Amino acid sequence: MSLRTDLTRLFIGEDRQLQRLLAYWAATCAFYAVCMVLMLLQIQNGTADRAAATALIWFGSTSVVACYLLIRASKALRVPPARLAVLQAFVALGCNVAAYAISGPIRGASLMVLLVVLVFCTFSLRPRQTLALCASTICALGITIAWMVIHDPLRYPASIEVIHFGLAASSLLAVALLTGEMSKLRSGLKRQKEELLVAVATIRTLATVDELTSLANRRHMNEVLGAEERRERGGGEPVCIALLDIDFFKSVNDRYGHAGGDAVLRTFAATAREALRGGDVLARWGGEEFLLLLPNTALAEATPVLDRMAERVRAMRIGELDRELTVTFSAGLAERHGDEPFADTISRADRALYIAKASGRNQVIPIETPAA
Ligand code: GH3
Ligand code: MG
Ligand code: MG
Repeated sequence: MSLRTDLTRLFIGEDRQLQRLLAYWAATCAFYAVCMVLMLLQIQNGTADRAAATALIWFGSTSVVACYLLIRASKALRVPPARLAVLQAFVALGCNVAAYAISGPIRGASLMVLLVVLVFCTFSLRPRQTLALCASTICALGITIAWMVIHDPLRYPASIEVIHFGLAASSLLAVALLTGEMSKLRSGLKRQKEELLVAVATIRTLATVDELTSLANRRHMNEVLGAEERRERGGGEPVCIALLDIDFFKSVNDRYGHAGGDAVLRTFAATAREALRGGDVLARWGGEEFLLLLPNTALAEATPVLDRMAERVRAMRIGELDRELTVTFSAGLAERHGDEPFADTISRADRALYIAKASGRNQVIPIETPAA
């Protein structure tokens, strides 16, 4: 592992949520840096008190580093991200109110930063939390302004400070309410996205899975066969197709009703699937007919697979219907010839199935591959 990867992992970890929080932190950091440079300029041109401004810059820098450490260790300390966001917002708003108090003639402009902090909160706080934060900021600003007006009325005339406060308080409130609405829209969109994902997953399942047996449906099997036809078979591996049909299924329906027939189909599907190997695909081809794709399998290897399946099906019991009921199936088995379309292989398997039915049922008839 390279040193760079190690360092990256050390600073931003591997957890996606942590990395997102640190990305927000980095954005805040850049903003703090701009504010600090502007504060340094004020020290330089003598419009801000040097000692107070330096103390604020130190406090701001230390808070930024402390916030990073807290976010980085939040998982270990079990601090929820929302609590961290509230803390960060409190520190930022506090710094901003303090900056207002020491900023001299440009202090009115510094109030814009309060709005930026509040907008930032939309990403991590609930509307109520943002409103509470806004109310605390308005209180803190009001107390700071009142204190300055009382103690230094020459530099902070009440007539101007009242306007500063009025504009800041109303703008803060408006932004908090607007961001609250945005948060609601965002959560609405998030919920819709989740519902959409569930709907897409359901549609995908409906499009590929047979509802009754949970096997692949005919449409999906056709896709699998199409993909198999398009695949480069460099080694020319053999592929077999089997068509299976449950014997005398109509009489099962007649005897146990349609629901009974459905139960037999479900149990048959589960039992047949158990007899298969990893890559084999069994699909409900229609009614009580099933299509089996056996990749990498020659006719001689496919016959035992189907015999094993037939044995298991004969042994299966449908407890809820009749423990005496024995289900059998007939199958026609064919090996794909070269790159022929699967439709041709299926048609040969169908002919073999017909022979299996005509010659007594309950048997698997393999049909030999025609000569090339
Ligand atoms: P064979 O041995 O010649 O295949 O006789 P069979 O009775 O199995 O064949 P037939 O084609 O005469 O009857 C098939 C029956 O399967 C008729 C149809 O009502 C029934 N069937 C088809 N789909 C379903 C289903 O989803 N549920 C139920 N319960 N029955 C079905
Ligand atoms: Mg049948
Ligand atoms: Mg049939």
